[in-house]
Amino acid sequence: MKVLKFGGTSVGSPERIKNLAELVQADESRIIVLSAMAGTTNALVEITDLLYKENNDLANEKISELETQYRKRIEELYTTEEYKSKGNELINSHFNYIRNFVYRSFTTLQEKAILAQGELISTAMFHYYLSEIGVNSTFLPALNFMRIDKDGEPDYFYIKENLERILSEESEHKLFITQGFICRNVYGEVDNLKRGGSDYTASLIGSVLQSEEVQIWTDIDGFHNNDPRYVENTSALKQLSFDEAAELAYFGAKIMHPSSIVPCKLNHVPVRLKNTLSPLDEGTLISDDSIGKGIKAIAAKDGITALKIKSGRMLLAYGFLRKVFEVFEIYKTPIDMITTSEVAVSLTIDDDSNLKEIESELVKYGNVEIDKDQSIICIVGDFISESAGSAKLVLEALEHIPLRMISYGGSLHNISVLVSKEDKVAALQALSNHLF
Ligand code: ASP
Repeated sequence: MKVLKFGGTSVGSPERIKNLAELVQADESRIIVLSAMAGTTNALVEITDLLYKENNDLANEKISELETQYRKRIEELYTTEEYKSKGNELINSHFNYIRNFVYRSFTTLQEKAILAQGELISTAMFHYYLSEIGVNSTFLPALNFMRIDKDGEPDYFYIKENLERILSEESEHKLFITQGFICRNVYGEVDNLKRGGSDYTASLIGSVLQSEEVQIWTDIDGFHNNDPRYVENTSALKQLSFDEAAELAYFGAKIMHPSSIVPCKLNHVPVRLKNTLSPLDEGTLISDDSIGKGIKAIAAKDGITALKIKSGRMLLAYGFLRKVFEVFEIYKTPIDMITTSEVAVSLTIDDDSNLKEIESELVKYGNVEIDKDQSIICIVGDFISESAGSAKLVLEALEHIPLRMISYGGSLHNISVLVSKEDKVAALQALSNHLF
């Protein structure tokens, strides 16, 4: 069994849905995981924001706008009257459901239920389309098996047990269509795996089924060795280890959701990044194996805030760092990078929603300096058995760029530097010229 995930742009128009129908057909067994059509989840988020603010009239207008787009898509996608009418009934039922929430009091529960409509519609539309062109497929409602526990973490046991049971009841079928992103929570209510979570769905399914391969299909031919938006002549990497891919995904390479590496890594299920626009290309294979030594790729992550806590009390003291870290724990704010000297500690955060509160706690321990608009540049590779000194190469490449922090040795796969956002592009280009 292979699991193939296609994102919003791959189902983003009737044209793309028709192409997708070609791509998914094969002799092997496959579970196809789909996102909502591109733009839909954002539109639904906008609608739920308006409902929270009780701006019901505008919410109604936005619902109608989205519905009109879907009516047009239904007209273009299906050729027969039978399927046009099925498609329109589908749109009626989902949009009537969404309209139910207008002019009522609105909660998170209802927000999640509305956000789920995007994936529910795209998968049903695709399933109908396959059926219209005579391709057999089985609809696999994710809400019947995908579940998170009380901490919001995937409930592996529940997912495995239920998915295996459902699949065993459908053992004569080969092509399954399911929704990415959506799930139920521990109370059985509709929930989701957070924005961009469809990759995570695919990885969870692949992992619990010990699938042969999980494929994440996008419009780019795999992980590139640098950010193609800022650097010319980047090239796709053929192979990466799970650890290397996790660093790249976390530190900015937009191609796959960072959490989606974990389930496959746990169960040693290879992940392949494939390009919908050139399906025959091999893409990037992510597995337990690492090939090649030294520096392989560079990624950058913006919107980083750096905090420096300086205190004489840190000198020769113990327990100081614990107190500092506890503040971040209280405000559920993950720390990305950290560097220390004898009298100060610098660290970075990506989520600054509790920055004011964090700062007011930290001043109890020392002088706090905050720099916003920083970028982490992450240089990834296999530094385990190298002798050439990748750190030296990185510093040489960046000799003209002011570096706010440098982190090396945390893992054997990552050298990170923190630069001001204005210097990011120059730094990426300098690294590219010097290293590749
Ligand atoms: N539709 C969801 C989102 O836009 C999930 C996904 O596409 O991965 O975040």
